[in-house]
Amino acid sequence: MINAIDILQNTFGYDQFRPPQEDIIATLIDGGDALVLMPTGGGKSLCYQIPAIVRKGCGIVISPLIALMQDQVDSLQELGIRASFLNSTLDRQDEIQIEKSLLEGQLDLLYIAPERLIQPRTLSLLKQSSISLFAIDEAHCVSQWGHDFRTDYLELNLLHEEFPGVPRIALTATADKRTREEIISRLELRQASQYFAGFDRPNIRYTIAIKHNPRNQLLRFLKNEHLNDAGIIYCLSRKKTEETATWLSKQGFEALPYHAGLSPKIRTEHQSRFLRDDGVIIVATIAFGMGIDKPDVRFVAHMDLPKTIESYYQETGRAGRDGLPADAWMVYGLQDVIKLRQMLDSAGGSEEHKRLEAHRLNAMLALCEITSCRRHALLMHFDEQSAEHCGNCDTCLTPVDTWDGTEAAQKALSVVFRTGQRFGVNHLIDVLRGIETDKIFQFDHHQLQVYGIGTEIDKNQWHSVFRQLMARGYISVELDRFGGIRLEEKCRALLRGEETIELRRDIKQKVVKKLTVTPLPEDIDVGIWEALRECRRQLAEAQGVPPFVIFHDTTLREMAGSMPKTLDEFGLLSGVGERKREKYGPVFLEVIASTNSGQL
Ligand code: ADP
Ligand code: ZN
Repeated sequence: MINAIDILQNTFGYDQFRPPQEDIIATLIDGGDALVLMPTGGGKSLCYQIPAIVRKGCGIVISPLIALMQDQVDSLQELGIRASFLNSTLDRQDEIQIEKSLLEGQLDLLYIAPERLIQPRTLSLLKQSSISLFAIDEAHCVSQWGHDFRTDYLELNLLHEEFPGVPRIALTATADKRTREEIISRLELRQASQYFAGFDRPNIRYTIAIKHNPRNQLLRFLKNEHLNDAGIIYCLSRKKTEETATWLSKQGFEALPYHAGLSPKIRTEHQSRFLRDDGVIIVATIAFGMGIDKPDVRFVAHMDLPKTIESYYQETGRAGRDGLPADAWMVYGLQDVIKLRQMLDSAGGSEEHKRLEAHRLNAMLALCEITSCRRHALLMHFDEQSAEHCGNCDTCLTPVDTWDGTEAAQKALSVVFRTGQRFGVNHLIDVLRGIETDKIFQFDHHQLQVYGIGTEIDKNQWHSVFRQLMARGYISVELDRFGGIRLEEKCRALLRGEETIELRRDIKQKVVKKLTVTPLPEDIDVGIWEALRECRRQLAEAQGVPPFVIFHDTTLREMAGSMPKTLDEFGLLSGVGERKREKYGPVFLEVIASTNSGQL
């Protein structure tokens, strides 16, 4: 029998397993069930692909995103693996052909959408076939607690009843403990071996900056660090995604909007340009991204604050699946906090639900406001220990200054109180700074004792004080459109002087050290790199697949670095298995040889 390591090396072209993969694969080959939590880019696919090839019969992969199945199957077929998919995009003729191959034992892997799987017709087809395993991808879709919930997923517990002898593996990158527990109970995985690979994404650099002029900040970030890179920009509203995309296009970027209000045709078109062309930016609401398998997304930018750390982790996690350096960049400000708090308050649902959501938002805000390592805090949120300083987040790279904000906070809270807890932040700051405005005179606020007690601090810094007080729950904002600020119970101790408060000193122009992004290692010649990319692009275009189906950037880089001269040398590259060596080796060797001779 061919064993797992041979398949890894000969078919996939990788030298060795990553630590958890080997155990997971062994468990499945032995017929056991597994629950796998691995971060994006961790290498989940191999965990079921290899056992499906080793075991007798066909592996059934249940995945909610039919848009991706084509690329996944193309990638596998490129490696010489007999893979197919069944979903609503196929015509009847193809469907019959695929069903026939399955019945005849001609398939290693078959991808099926959950809604298709639970149809009696499909179940009866599977019953007549030899099945090696079931892989339930994006298993967090079974959880009502998390995002992406799908009712079809609930029915997947029929698998263990209908196919008791077939091993099952459930996989997700969602870290949340509650979601994890729900997956186990809903999919009947109590007996399954559990594998938690940790959630760190060391190649992602986290940066959270204070919003001053968000568009300019974004532009500077893109121009300095991600010119020509593919990335995702998240905005809260549909309108803003469109405006931002239009504006970026005017700045010379290839930027496309994506949200649930666009027609399916346009959405598909934009998604496929993002996947297939180089350097496309998608400006999207959270409707975009689940299961986006593009390995070379170099940045994820948030123009608005996500509601929870879970969403932040999930969305930023779409960057850098290939393991190369990537950025998770965000700007946020007082208005974000106000907006989200108001949205929370006005949303339906029980008090208990609101309380939980508020709790989750607070955790997200705390991550924004911390002065210590972001990665450490992020991982702590998922109960994972890590080094105090990661060296790859904004707070590690540019340590934050703090100041004793006790007195300023007391002044701010007093003004809220003296003006009757019904005015917005801008007016409160005017009162503090003793500004003469119509509104001040209208309400006789110039008569108050607190009028002009805060002239030592400028407007921006007062904004920062209010933002931090709000983020930490000392004050809250009224639901109405005036956004009046109220005091919270928590502020008593601070007002009485029984408590002190350390505040962040916001840095206006954050000088983030320039990233060595899409950085070509020093020994790689740009000309060769571009020639290899062009060769890949042409091959991809001829076959109608995205470039990464031919080779990932990681393989291309290794190629440019080691410049193989023979097929044997070519076969040593990571990501080059037997089939790709034969199919693409000669073409790429020729490109390398010609650039070599051109240099001489
Ligand atoms: P996930 O589904 O967990 O996000 P993938 O299965 O897409 O991750 O794998 C991420 C990347 O890592 C892919 O490019 C994959 O080919 C690569 N990879 C997976 N396992 C290995 C390995 N053992 N050695 C080298 N590369 C690997
Ligand atoms: Zn850090």
